[in-house]
Amino acid sequence: MTSTIEAVAALVGDAKRIVVFTGAGISAESGIPTFRDPLTGIWARHDPEKLETASAFREDAALVWGWYLWRRVQVAQAAPNAAHQAIAQLARTREVTVVTQNIDDLHERAGSADVIHLHGSLAQPKCFACHRTPAALFFEEPIASEGLRIEPPRCPRCNGKLRPGVVWFGEDLPAVAWKRSVLAARDCDVLLSIGTSGVVFPAAEIPIMALHAGAYVVHINPAQVAQPSSRELCLIGRATEHVPALVSLMMLTDMLPS
Ligand code: NAD
Ligand code: ZN
Repeated sequence: MTSTIEAVAALVGDAKRIVVFTGAGISAESGIPTFRDPLTGIWARHDPEKLETASAFREDAALVWGWYLWRRVQVAQAAPNAAHQAIAQLARTREVTVVTQNIDDLHERAGSADVIHLHGSLAQPKCFACHRTPAALFFEEPIASEGLRIEPPRCPRCNGKLRPGVVWFGEDLPAVAWKRSVLAARDCDVLLSIGTSGVVFPAAEIPIMALHAGAYVVHINPAQVAQPSSRELCLIGRATEHVPALVSLMMLTDMLPS
């Protein structure tokens, strides 16, 4: 009898176009907490959903800037894991579009090219007032490992406060990233949805669009995030357990005479 992972490896092996759609769970094993993990230090009494809004920034920019610096420290100290690496490897033999909800750069550091960031990036701040992205590397202030309130640097053009270049709750997704993701989802044969709870919209529409356009959708998650059906499959477990195994299995099949 064929196991689910063998069935998925066969689907991925036969696919011309693959979309890899990732969420916080893929970076969890690199030590970057998801929103479900309890916060420590000065953040313990804050709720990310409240910190990650324009109104929180208006009210207390230093608190919000400090929060994102703390998250940058976590990302700087983290390394891509075997799942990020296997995705980069997959792109050597298949057409792969990586669409991530993550604001870290672990896909890029694992070697994936042209990653679509649906929720922006920690590495690209922009001006809260004039919305421009400063060209030069902007902040050199010391970064506290525990987290601190830190006044944001100022925009070199208008002296407005710089804000992180991420999508806050209540904000629209970057239009170009969204359009490219929709096109990729509608045009793929298989979409691998890895480490995402599927509850943050509109990002969570991407796998649904792929499914409606006739693709297979495979969920890789320790939690059962979908009900399996004829075109929706679930590999229950950690990303580092299933993604490298899946890619190795597929590569082995590629080497077999057909
Ligand atoms: P989420 O926090 O809602 O869900 C995380 C999912 O990952 C859960 O379904 C969980 O079961 C799963 N998971 C946990 N450990 C896993 C593992 N080892 N392997 C595979 N899956 C695992 O995350 P989300 O769906 O990405 O949505 C929440 C929002 O949080 C997004 O908008 C995202 O931008 C943001 N976020 C990003 C980061 C990051 O950049 N690394 C971190 C935290 C939150
Ligand atoms: Zn400005």
